[in-house]
Amino acid sequence: MTLATQPTLGLRDAHGRVARDLRVSLTDRCNLRCSYCMPAEGLAWLPGRTILTDTEVVRLVRVAVELLGVDTVRFTGGEPLLRPGLAGIIAAVRELTTDRGGPPGVALTTNGIGLDAHVAALKAAGLERVNVSLDSLNRQRYAALARRDRLPEVLAGLAAAEAAGLRPVKVNTVVMRGVNEVDVLPLAEYCLERGYQLRFIEQMPLGPRHGWDRDAMVPAAEVLARLQQHYRLIPLPGRGAAPSEDWQVLDADGRVRGRIGVIASVTRPFCGACDRTRLTADGQLRTCLFARTETDLRTPLRSGATDLELAELWQGAHLTKARGHGIDDPGFAPPVRTMSSIGG
Ligand code: SAM
Ligand code: SF4
Repeated sequence: MTLATQPTLGLRDAHGRVARDLRVSLTDRCNLRCSYCMPAEGLAWLPGRTILTDTEVVRLVRVAVELLGVDTVRFTGGEPLLRPGLAGIIAAVRELTTDRGGPPGVALTTNGIGLDAHVAALKAAGLERVNVSLDSLNRQRYAALARRDRLPEVLAGLAAAEAAGLRPVKVNTVVMRGVNEVDVLPLAEYCLERGYQLRFIEQMPLGPRHGWDRDAMVPAAEVLARLQQHYRLIPLPGRGAAPSEDWQVLDADGRVRGRIGVIASVTRPFCGACDRTRLTADGQLRTCLFARTETDLRTPLRSGATDLELAELWQGAHLTKARGHGIDDPGFAPPVRTMSSIGG
């Protein structure tokens, strides 16, 4: 009997939410140094022996899909395109069967560098969707923000994803006050013209130490107001568990241009509908981006735990998932890991 023919245990937390969406970080390393995510000098990278092998990643994803009811898997990092075995991992995950029948959905969050070279193999392996992070179309500003002069490679990656049919290609932009607010409209126009779905993300306290200031954060409402100076925005229903609130975008003359979203994690948190569970590159289970604790799955995995034992560990840990991220709580403290090490 395959695991998938058994009823799944499900990943339910104490607040009644059920997780079906797994984020897997495949590496904490990156070829950029976005200022909101990593310090200029990089970080102390995870030791190689602690990083899950491709086989270990697939085994834990299999436990999540076939025993715990996960039906969507998103690979992230760090920069997931730096993981040599990425296509093989995706292909193996697409061999799994969810409790709804059929393979899990597989998506990738990437900075886009090298995507043009890899996209055919990733698509052939079963990749369905891609989110590309892009914070400016101005080469100097991009280079200053990402601390690397690589904008043309990102744009080539985006075009390649679109040409490969990974539609809709989504673009993620973190807006920072005094840094790239001027990029909001050019990015909107660039993405609307090409059929990419752009989503503006509020900056969260997950970057280098002391790098976040709530008052300096650009709230989604401000981004929407900026867009409304040029477009008509009609709210689209159906946010569900998705973090993005989406808008249909029309020109002043009423012509439909496409779709834009905002991810207002700070000012309009979506924790109440969260359906996520997370696995770091070194095999630590996290119930939330902002969790202060992790559950080690790597040690039991390497010590001979059965699939069922791993699933029960995961289930027990998930029960403790906090009701919300607590950014506004007086005692809020950001997690020790930064976004690149957790997996955004
Ligand atoms: N390297 C890949 C990329 O940049 O898309 C994947 C990992 S990155 C950590 C995933 C997403 O997290 C990116 O869209 C990035 O913009 C976002 N991100 C990183 N730090 C953030 C922060 N402090 N607040 C909000 N979003 C952040
Ligand atoms: Fe790298 Fe992504 Fe973090 Fe930028 S946001 S430094 S691309 S992990």
